[in-house]
Amino acid sequence: RLDVDRLTRAFDGAPVVDNVSFRIEAGQVACLLGPSGCGKSTTLRIIAGVDVQDSGRILVDGQLICDARTHVPPEQRAIGLMFQDFALFPHLPVRENVAFGLAGGFRANRERVAELLDRVRMTAHIDSYPHELSGGEQQRVALARALAPRPRVLLMDEPFSGLDERLRDGIRDETLALLKEEGTAVLLVTHEPHEAMRMADQILLMRDGRIVQQGAPYNLYNAPVDRQAAAFFSDIN
Ligand code: ATP
Ligand code: MG
Repeated sequence: RLDVDRLTRAFDGAPVVDNVSFRIEAGQVACLLGPSGCGKSTTLRIIAGVDVQDSGRILVDGQLICDARTHVPPEQRAIGLMFQDFALFPHLPVRENVAFGLAGGFRANRERVAELLDRVRMTAHIDSYPHELSGGEQQRVALARALAPRPRVLLMDEPFSGLDERLRDGIRDETLALLKEEGTAVLLVTHEPHEAMRMADQILLMRDGRIVQQGAPYNLYNAPVDRQAAAFFSDIN
């Protein structure tokens, strides 16, 4: 479970994340949706621990990871990351990419690596190098790598935007199924309403650093908070 409580962050006096609060339960996917520059990635960076809030606090499974006095370092937060530009390590085979976050590497974690590669249908490529894989295959390995250490929270920033449009819905569905099995709380950033409608248990609609509406996809689609939110969802069919 991820709890974000009254998070605020300004750059040069301009608020970029403005009093943001939400909760994501284990096994649930929340999509953070909003226009370019509204503060989505900044929110994720603070949760990951690579940026620091001005005020507010964050808890993972009820444990405080940051507030005014506390800053648990990123690698101790039980938070996994999957960003568009968070590429696989080119010099490592698939097996070592997946085992990267695990003490002892592949040799000490054969079962976990095998389980995840099976789950993302990449067993046949266990000894391949990233450049030998298609974009969609690399994406599946990246998901296995992110989940290998069993993070309690997974942060995904536009994870599908580098993929061919024809591949995206299939990979979205596969990803969602695996996330549900693993029971991870997921915060997924997107600016595609279609992606949020397809994947989210909860949508967090962000604008100018604030959450202007949150709820089930169906509710936002049927009862958008204002004209701008309505326009945002209008091109979904
Ligand atoms: P996009 O959809 O384009 O990725 P975003 O919602 O992820 O946008 P952020 O990257 O969070 O947006 O940026 C929000 C605002 O904060 C932008 O105006 C950006 O220029 C500003 N910003 C982000 N990081 C910094 C920084 N380190 N210093 C100054 N301004 C920053
Ligand atoms: Mg961004």
